[in-house]
Amino acid sequence: MASIELSVTEEQRALRAGVLEICKRYPGEYWRDLDTRREYPEKFVTELTEAGYLAALIPQEYGGAGLGIREGGLILETINYSGGNAGACHAQMYIMGTVLRHGSEAQKREYLPKIATGALRLQAFGVTEPNSGSDTTKLQTTAIRKGDRYVVNGQKIFISRVLQSDLMLLLARTTSVGQVKRRTDGLSVFLIDIRDLKGFEVRPLRMMMNHSTNALFFDNVEIPATSLIGEEGKGFHYILDGMNAERILVASDSLGDARWFIEKAVAYSNQRVIFGRPIGANQGVQFAISRSHVSTDAAQLMRDKAAALFDAGQPCGGEANMAKFLGAEAAWEAGNACIDCHGGYGYAEEYDVERKFRECRLYKTAPINNNLILAYVGEHVLGMPRSY
Ligand SMILES: Cc1cc2nc3c(=O)[nH]c(=O)nc-3n(C[C@H](O)[C@H](O)[C@H](O)COP(=O)(O)OP(=O)(O)OC[C@H]3O[C@@H](n4cnc5c(N)ncnc54)[C@H](O)[C@@H]3O)c2cc1C
Repeated sequence: MASIELSVTEEQRALRAGVLEICKRYPGEYWRDLDTRREYPEKFVTELTEAGYLAALIPQEYGGAGLGIREGGLILETINYSGGNAGACHAQMYIMGTVLRHGSEAQKREYLPKIATGALRLQAFGVTEPNSGSDTTKLQTTAIRKGDRYVVNGQKIFISRVLQSDLMLLLARTTSVGQVKRRTDGLSVFLIDIRDLKGFEVRPLRMMMNHSTNALFFDNVEIPATSLIGEEGKGFHYILDGMNAERILVASDSLGDARWFIEKAVAYSNQRVIFGRPIGANQGVQFAISRSHVSTDAAQLMRDKAAALFDAGQPCGGEANMAKFLGAEAAWEAGNACIDCHGGYGYAEEYDVERKFRECRLYKTAPINNNLILAYVGEHVLGMPRSY
């Protein structure tokens, strides 16, 4: 393995400061209010887009900043560290990678510059289905070619930000399982314009946190054949290609959450006096916070290593998966330490702890649950039998 650089550069420091500057204009009250109403942070996402941060990973020739995954991760981490929720806008960073790597030159020229300016929003990624869940290759939504169109039928569940997006990346089966050698073949990826799509129904779901999540129904939905990305039947492999980026970026969301919890927990337990001394003087309080700091620093090292390998074009499947696992667990540990030291106040909405607690929990389950990360490590890192 070539040497990799883990220190933060001046440019990365400046990037973080720029994002933080915007985040300061969107304090806890802003996120709390949206959380209560389950509304999308439209103003925040628009400002972030206009400042160019959501186009960080789009190459300069297509109107983006052409930065690496490390910088993408720092942007998301900073949003969550500031008390906000990057879940509203993180998907664009990893979804557009599929278009970038596998789309035709015409598709890239058509979409990427508009995504970079915010003229088109691509925040929706339709994979999960009610009957297949984590077992993606068993998905049942079909896209059947009819002349210059595909006809889509099926159902998706838990698909986020659909009502706030113009475009969605959709994974559907184009060849039935019986007609392909491997179940991973015969799935295709489409970049579809979901504005005014006939036969397409979106039903919002009220979830534990504000995540703009929906059930989707496709009833003979016709999409142009030109929305196919790459070759028909190779979609699953294209999605897999983007997994390392997704894992690293989601690990970054979690790291930001963890840092926010730890900072809040330290500040509160240093000033809250009970039994005549700060509660942070008790090992029962202090050690839980210290332990979560240890976990967070370790998770950050793994995220930084994974990002450095990714940006150097080296294999990083093990590191990216471990970073996602460690990040999600560290945030959950820090969340628990934070809610514990706040006593009853941890449950009061105005402290934001309970909101962040709900938000950070997601990354133990989605976009992939941590059990399947362990299955990946067992099989691909340790060479053990496939467990599922
Ligand atoms: C708020 C939210 C937003 C989401 N947004 C999107 C989105 O935008 N796009 C999208 O496509 N999906 C999205 N998802 C779906 C998410 O990716 C899935 O929920 C996740 O992949 C798990 O699928 P499932 O819910 O069907 O759980 P299942 O696959 O039914 O698994 C249930 C549980 O069983 C366990 N399990 C399953 N298989 C194994 C195994 N082999 N070994 C050990 N344990 C196992 C795990 O603990 C798992 O959590 C979202 C989910 C949520 C909650």
